[in-house]
Order: sequence, then structure tokens, then C-alpha cells
Amino acid sequence: MATILSAQSTDVNVNRVTPELFRKYPTVADFAAITPEQLEPDVRSTGFFRNKSKSVVGAAKRVVSEFGGQVPDDMERLLTLPGVARKTANVVLGSWFGKAEGVVVDTHVTRIARRLELTRNTDAPKIEQDLMKVIPREKWILFAHQIIWHGRKLCIARRPKCVDCALENICHAGDKTWTTVEVHKSAKL
Ligand code: SF4
Repeated sequence: MATILSAQSTDVNVNRVTPELFRKYPTVADFAAITPEQLEPDVRSTGFFRNKSKSVVGAAKRVVSEFGGQVPDDMERLLTLPGVARKTANVVLGSWFGKAEGVVVDTHVTRIARRLELTRNTDAPKIEQDLMKVIPREKWILFAHQIIWHGRKLCIARRPKCVDCALENICHAGDKTWTTVEVHKSAKL
């Protein structure tokens, strides 16, 4: 539920909402028993709350009716849940079930994969395929966490802190703020 709510939102925003949300609706059956309209006030601050309410309640209903109340642990069935595309499915499979079925591609992974020239693509499914080719499978889960953390702390969107970055001498990003190596103009978003 939290992963569905995290779309187009920050973790801070989602984490502000979920403790009370899970107190109010402690099981998937509780979410399945309400209407999206009932959920809306509780998730309003995460943005896009009407769609997210529909997705959360719809996913809960499907988990209860089709999957015996258990969140599925494979990509194919996860993708049948409302509000779940590959990114959300990869988060759940990797971080909850420990299964490396793909690589999470969010805004940080997109930006940094392009800066580090691990991909030339701009859309998430193609970026994911490129990363799956160059990153060893046993590192897929951790890689996304590491890159997202790197994107929050150092390799930020507007003014990356290149002077403090351990990857500086292998990074040719076109929008670096400091460099000791040749810069490749196309290596950026
Ligand atoms: S050197 Fe700069 S642009 Fe390259 S990965 Fe580090 S912070 Fe990002």
C-alpha cells in the first residue's frame, strides 16, 4: 500500500501518512472493505489522492478475492493489481520478498543511470532493460537502493555535489559541477 502511495510523492510524505493509515486499516481485508472515497481524506497529502485511493482499495479487493489475502510474490500476478507497474512490483519483490526480478527505475535511477552512461534511454522500461544487462543480477536489489540514496544525498538533480562524489573520476556527466575527466555532453537527462 505504501509503495502505491509513493508514486509522484516523497518518502517523507508517505511515511507521515502510513502509521495512522495502518492503525485505522491494519489488514488487507480492512482496505478491501472500504470505498475509495472513504480512503481519500487519509491519503490526500500524498498527492493524486483520488487515483491512489482507487488503486489501493482496488488492489486490496483483488488481493483478497483472487490471491487469498496474500500479496503475490511474482511479477506476473503483481502486475494485475491496480496501481502496480514494474517499478512498484520490483520494489515489493526486491525489498519485501528478496527476489531480483528486475531493477527499480525511479527518478533518481533514471537521472544517475544516464549521467553514468549506463543507458541512453529516457523511458523507464528501456532503462530497466539496459541496467539488467550491465548490472549483475545479485546486485539488482541493492543497486537501486544505493543509487536512490546517492541521488538524494549527492547526485541531486540541479547541482550535483561532484566535488564530494566517490564516482567523480569515472563519471562523464554533461551537467557535472566539477570534474577531473572529460565531460560527455549527452550524458545527462
Ligand atoms: S560526479 Fe557528480 S554527476 Fe557524476 S555521479 Fe557524482 S555527483 Fe553525480
